[in-house]
Amino acid sequence: MLGTMQDWPLLVWKLIDHAATNHGDREVISLTCEGGVHRSNWRTVHGRARQVAEALRRMGIVPGDRVATLAWNTYRHVEGWYGISGMGGVAHTINPRLFDDQIVYIANHAEDRILFFDLTFVKLVERLAPRLTSIEHFVLMTDRSHMPADSTLDLLCYEELIAAEDPAMAWTPVPETAAAGLCYTSGTTGNPKGVQYSHRSNVLHAMAACMTDTFGLGAASVVCPIAPMYHANAWSIPYTAAAAGAKLVMGGPHFDAPTLQKLIVDEDVDVALAVPTIWLGMLQHLEKAGGGLGKLKRTAIGGSAVPRSMIEAFDTLHGVHVMQLWGMTEMSPLGTVGTASPEVLAMPYEQQIDYRVKQGRGLFGVEMKVVDEDGAEIPRNGTDFGRLMVRGPWIVGSYFKGDGGQVLDADGWFDTGDVATLDALGYMHIVDRSKDVIKSGGEWISSIDLENAAVGAPGVAEAAVIGIAHPKWDERPLLLVRQKEGATVSKEAVLAYLDGKIAKWWMPDDVLIVEDLPHTATGKLLKTELRERYKDYRLP
Ligand code: ADP
Repeated sequence: MLGTMQDWPLLVWKLIDHAATNHGDREVISLTCEGGVHRSNWRTVHGRARQVAEALRRMGIVPGDRVATLAWNTYRHVEGWYGISGMGGVAHTINPRLFDDQIVYIANHAEDRILFFDLTFVKLVERLAPRLTSIEHFVLMTDRSHMPADSTLDLLCYEELIAAEDPAMAWTPVPETAAAGLCYTSGTTGNPKGVQYSHRSNVLHAMAACMTDTFGLGAASVVCPIAPMYHANAWSIPYTAAAAGAKLVMGGPHFDAPTLQKLIVDEDVDVALAVPTIWLGMLQHLEKAGGGLGKLKRTAIGGSAVPRSMIEAFDTLHGVHVMQLWGMTEMSPLGTVGTASPEVLAMPYEQQIDYRVKQGRGLFGVEMKVVDEDGAEIPRNGTDFGRLMVRGPWIVGSYFKGDGGQVLDADGWFDTGDVATLDALGYMHIVDRSKDVIKSGGEWISSIDLENAAVGAPGVAEAAVIGIAHPKWDERPLLLVRQKEGATVSKEAVLAYLDGKIAKWWMPDDVLIVEDLPHTATGKLLKTELRERYKDYRLP
C-alpha cells in the first residue's frame, strides 16, 4: 500500500522560492570584482535568477545542457547557479585555480555550452577560448561600464543579457532525479572525474546541513561561506542559507585575512566556513593585528584535518567554536561534523578536544563503516583502522559519462580512499589518505597526525609530512616546516616539541625548514608534488 501524501519533487529552486517568499528582505551581501560591497536580498536574487533562466532558454539551452561558471562567491554567481538549475540546466562550477590543461579538459569533457565568468578571469578565458570546443557564448558577469573595450572574445554582458527578461517567469519543472550541478574532483592522479549532483540530492543535503548538530542555521543566522562555490558547492551554503532564510555574506575574489576579518566584523557574521589554510592565515593575522572577529561564534572547517592548536586558539583567544567537517566532492560534500555529543560535553575540556580533533559523527543520511583488506567490517573501537566506506542519498553512484566504471561495491558502498577509525560514540577519525599513509616496518604512521602535532610547535606556520624510502623500515617520515613570518625554527626545537606528544617510533627522521609548501586548487597540501621533489632525498 502506498502512502497518500503529496508528491512534491525536491527541486533546488524550491529553496530560493522559499527564501524569497518567507525571507525576502534578508540580505545577500557580496564583495565584488568591480570593487566595494554589493547589498541585495533573497527576493531580488530570486527574481534575477529567474531572469537568468529565461535568458538561457532564449539562447537555446535545454534541460540537461551544461552551463559552466568560473566565478567567485558573489550574488551574481548565486543567481547564475539557481538560474541554470532552475531552467533544467546543469550548473557546472569550474575551479579557476586548476591548471589551464585541466580547465580545458573539464569544460570540453562536460560539453559546456555557455561559460559565465568573473572579471578576474578575462585573461584566463581569452587564453583558453581557442581550446574550448563546446562553448558557444562567453558571458562576463558584470555591467556595461566594466566590460573590457578590447577583448579578443565576442563577450556578452551579464547585466544586459538578463535586463529585458521577466523576473516572474516560471522555473522549468524537471524530475527531482535530474542533474542540477556538476563538479569535477581535483584529479591529483589521472584526469578529473565529474560528480553530477541531482536536485534531490542537493535538497536533502541542504536540509541535513541546516540541522542543529551540523551548521545549525536559522533565519537569524549570518553565514559566510569562504569555501568557494566551485569547491563542492561552497559546502552547500547557497542552498542551506536559502532554506534557512539566513543572511548570506560572500567575499567575492578576496581570501586575504584583513579583508575577511573586516567583512566578518562589519556584517555581523556568526558562522563562517573555510579550509584550514585560510584560518591559519587568519589566526596569524589576528595575532599581529588584533581586532577580533566581531560576532563570529562558530566556524566550520574541513577539506583537510584541523590541528588541535587551531581548535584551542579559536576557543581560548577568540571565543569561536570550531566544528570540524569531513567530506568530499563525491559526497556533496558533507559526511561528518565534529559537534560534541552529550557524552563528550560531559568530559573535561582537554578530553573534549581529543574528540574534536576527530572528523566527527555522520550526518543523518550518511552511513559509514571501516573495512579491512578483505572487505570485512572492523569493530568500532576507535583504534582499529581500515578503508572508510560510505553510502547515502547524496553520495556519488557513478561518475559523469561513466568514467571510472563501477564505483560502488555489490552492497552499494563507495570507497572514500581514506583510512579511518570509528569509535563507540560514532566519531570517525581520518588516519590518512590511503596514498599518503607512511608504511614503516609493517606499521602505519599517520602523516596527518604528525602534521597536526608539528603545527603546534612555536614558530611553525604549516607542516607537511611525507614518507621517504628507507632500506630497513620501508618508509620513514620526513617533516617539512614553513616558519611563521619573523620566526626562526630549528629541527632540534621541533623534535623536542614533538617528544612526548607522539609515539617514539613516529618521530620524523628529519626536519627541513622550507620557504613554501605546495597546495592543490582547493588548498590541501599537494603531497604528490612533495613526494616528487624529495624522491631522491636521503634521510640522515
Ligand atoms: P576537494 O576537497 O579538494 O574537493 P576531495 O573531494 O578530493 O577534494 O577531497 C576529499 C578528501 O579530503 C577526503 O577524502 C579527505 O581525505 C580529505 N578531507 C576532507 N575533510 C577532511 C578533514 N576534516 N580531515 C581530514 N581530511 C579531510
